Amino acid sequence: MKTRKMNQHAIILKVYCYTPICKPLNGSLPRSNASHMLRLNQYSYKYNFNGKKEKKEASSVLYFIKGIKGVLRHKIANICMSAGLDVCHSTDKEVDKHGNRLLPEGYHLLGSCVEKKECVLHQIFGSKGHEGIIVVQANPITSIPHKTAEISGRIQQVHIASENRVNLTYNGKSVQDFSERYFSGNFHFEIDVTSCTPLQLGLIIEGAMNFDRLGRGYNTGYGHVQVNKIQLLKRTVTRTPVMDENGCFIVQNQITEESRNKHFQNALEVWQNGINT
Ligand SMILES: [Zn+2]
Repeated sequence: MKTRKMNQHAIILKVYCYTPICKPLNGSLPRSNASHMLRLNQYSYKYNFNGKKEKKEASSVLYFIKGIKGVLRHKIANICMSAGLDVCHSTDKEVDKHGNRLLPEGYHLLGSCVEKKECVLHQIFGSKGHEGIIVVQANPITSIPHKTAEISGRIQQVHIASENRVNLTYNGKSVQDFSERYFSGNFHFEIDVTSCTPLQLGLIIEGAMNFDRLGRGYNTGYGHVQVNKIQLLKRTVTRTPVMDENGCFIVQNQITEESRNKHFQNALEVWQNGINT
């Protein structure tokens, strides 16, 4: 039997960043002073033991990087505002339960533009009941101490630790302390922009270039992020079923990536010209 190759194409914007210290944390329970990063499965790997050929097995805990899409949305909303475009706010309520106005100047209620003239922010990110057109994702992070570890591309190697700190003192005595997880190092995230027009892509690229924060404690020096590199690429995944000795089909994924530099430059131009007209 001859099987047809099953190809899947996507246009991906890859954003490479560095953070000295970042706390993309889960909230803690009332009266608890500990906050954690979102913990995932264990990652198993092999490494060379004592420089010998013999390989040892070990594992390391994976964590999810929270909040990337939220920051990106915030950055893009700010760019639209400074370009004089009306955009959705993150709330769909005009006033809170105390009667305080929630909607700042230049914003409309979340999703209220759909019927009339949908704003570019809503086209990209959507709202409840309206799906956006991008997918934002980052490979899980982990901290692997073994220098000879065999690491696959589906994880990101960073430094992960806990900060234990006294945050309240009374008459020189500590009365409350807390513990928070953080990570440090190089990481990257991806935005699937396959469904975007050049104008939407140009705006997303500008948003990604301005990505400068993540997680908690920005005003006290945490969560500062520096974007070092951005790449637009076309990713093709080819899936082939290959029968193993037990009669099962192993799905082999072959991934190829090509840069799309002209599309990148064109998108930025279309976006810049789009706001000026
Ligand atoms: Zn809107």
